[in-house]
Amino acid sequence: MKKILLLFLITSSLYSQSEYPQDYFRNPLDITLVLSGTFAELRSAHFHAGLDIKTQRKQGLKVYSAAEGYVSRIKISHYGYGKALYITHPNGYTTVYAHLQRFSDRLEKYIKECQYEKETFEVEVFPSNEELLIAPDEVIAYSGNTGGSGGPHLHFEIRDNQERPINPMLFGIDIKDTKQPFVSAVYAYPKDENAVINGKNERVPLRLIPKQNGDYEVEKITAYGNIGFGITSYDKQDLAPNNNGVSNIETFFNGNKSLEIDFKRFSFSETKHIKRLIDYDYFKTKKSRIQKLFIEKNNPLSLYKDAFDNGYIIVEDSTSSVFKIRIRDFKGNETLINIPIKGKYEVPEPKTIDYLNKTTILSNKPTELKSGLVTVNFYKNTVYEDVDIDFNVSSDTLHLHKDNIPLQKKFYINYDLSNYKSEHLDKVFIARLYGYYKRPSYVRTKRKGNILSAGCKTLGTYALAMDTVAPRIKPVNFKDKKWLSKYRYLKVKIDDDLSGISKYRATVNGKWILMEYDYKTNMLIHDFNDNIVKDTKNNLKIIVTDNVGNSSTFEATFFRK
Ligand SMILES: [Zn+2]
Repeated sequence: MKKILLLFLITSSLYSQSEYPQDYFRNPLDITLVLSGTFAELRSAHFHAGLDIKTQRKQGLKVYSAAEGYVSRIKISHYGYGKALYITHPNGYTTVYAHLQRFSDRLEKYIKECQYEKETFEVEVFPSNEELLIAPDEVIAYSGNTGGSGGPHLHFEIRDNQERPINPMLFGIDIKDTKQPFVSAVYAYPKDENAVINGKNERVPLRLIPKQNGDYEVEKITAYGNIGFGITSYDKQDLAPNNNGVSNIETFFNGNKSLEIDFKRFSFSETKHIKRLIDYDYFKTKKSRIQKLFIEKNNPLSLYKDAFDNGYIIVEDSTSSVFKIRIRDFKGNETLINIPIKGKYEVPEPKTIDYLNKTTILSNKPTELKSGLVTVNFYKNTVYEDVDIDFNVSSDTLHLHKDNIPLQKKFYINYDLSNYKSEHLDKVFIARLYGYYKRPSYVRTKRKGNILSAGCKTLGTYALAMDTVAPRIKPVNFKDKKWLSKYRYLKVKIDDDLSGISKYRATVNGKWILMEYDYKTNMLIHDFNDNIVKDTKNNLKIIVTDNVGNSSTFEATFFRK
């Protein structure tokens, strides 16, 4: 047994050696790699494109270039990757470093020049292959928590020359992992209305019985017809308690391979279709992801291999069969699930789903819904398959089902305000109503005459909301008419009640100053080391505007010498 495993490890490493250069890329930090996220791990609306490397709960760790090359892109954004650096290497691969606190002095100087020239904090530049050369082992940045990061860490990616992210571990970047993946749930699904699982024609939870060796047995099920399975599984590595993603899943029906899902590489163009891999309805109601081990129609994901009958099986009457699931992590640790199936012909109880106001959205044709002052447009291929949804409009509230049906792209809501009475028509916007208290949240709203329109990614309840209150601006570490000679930073807090902050601009004696905005702390921060503030007497002016155009101005005088 040991020998077979060893042989497997040798052949699999030879295989990867031939495809991806080994030991070319180094660990981008000088600490042992511990991950809080693995490659292709399932996230809210995408597969994770890299490794999330823990930085000992600190920011400011030195980040090294994984190999020599040149800086091919620098992007700074409020959300997403925050401060991100892209280095392209002579072998054609590009490494990506995200959520950075700041860049190395040389790169920081380069990007600040761009920011001061464009007078924005958010920038994206593509330096030529001669501008910013990077030596092996060069410190390129310091780790941080910028953008959509939920705690200090380094997000590290390796992309091929077609911008496809690849698991960095395939390049020999090693993380200690001797633990096998684990499974928290197994489900069976009927493919059509004739299939039955334990007497039912719906998603059925199966009883998992953990075995001593880490594998699982499932309590025998009775079934008939076309069925598929789904699992919730994670992998823990040795040095961290985080539940990370697995690397490969294979299924077998009576010993014959049924389906393989492999998470080695994907394209950014397909990442949104994660909604088709997971049971979206279950995820939205239970906050946990079941990966479906069968392929429904209109599923363009490239992660599937060897799909026989799209991963579904056919169970016949009076048969006895076995469905097996094998889950592997990247290091080849594996877990088996054994599902015994007794074939038994049954007629399922008929299902009755009755919505109050049922409307059908077609997948291969556009659908327009109209009621009162609202028009909703679903273009072709917005839904993966034809679906029945609940639709009604009362006053300005649009009930558009609930967010349990996955969408491939946005649909569009239009409100015609020609006969809508409001004192501040120009401050009205389209809001999504969230949760039990129906809290309104701004949806990017376009205005054309009396028509408000918005592109939306999720079904749910929408309504009109109004914001007439301008943003607040509050100094944090200084007061008007103070001396700030010894200060390194100028800090201001900004926020807005309803529609949210759209833009801000800060000047000192009429000259634009860079203020970095962190939406997580509502903080605007200027670094005096930018060397822009040189006068003794300084008039600071900050203008902040919200998403419907209300704006506030803050002014103060400070002194420096
Ligand atoms: Zn990440």
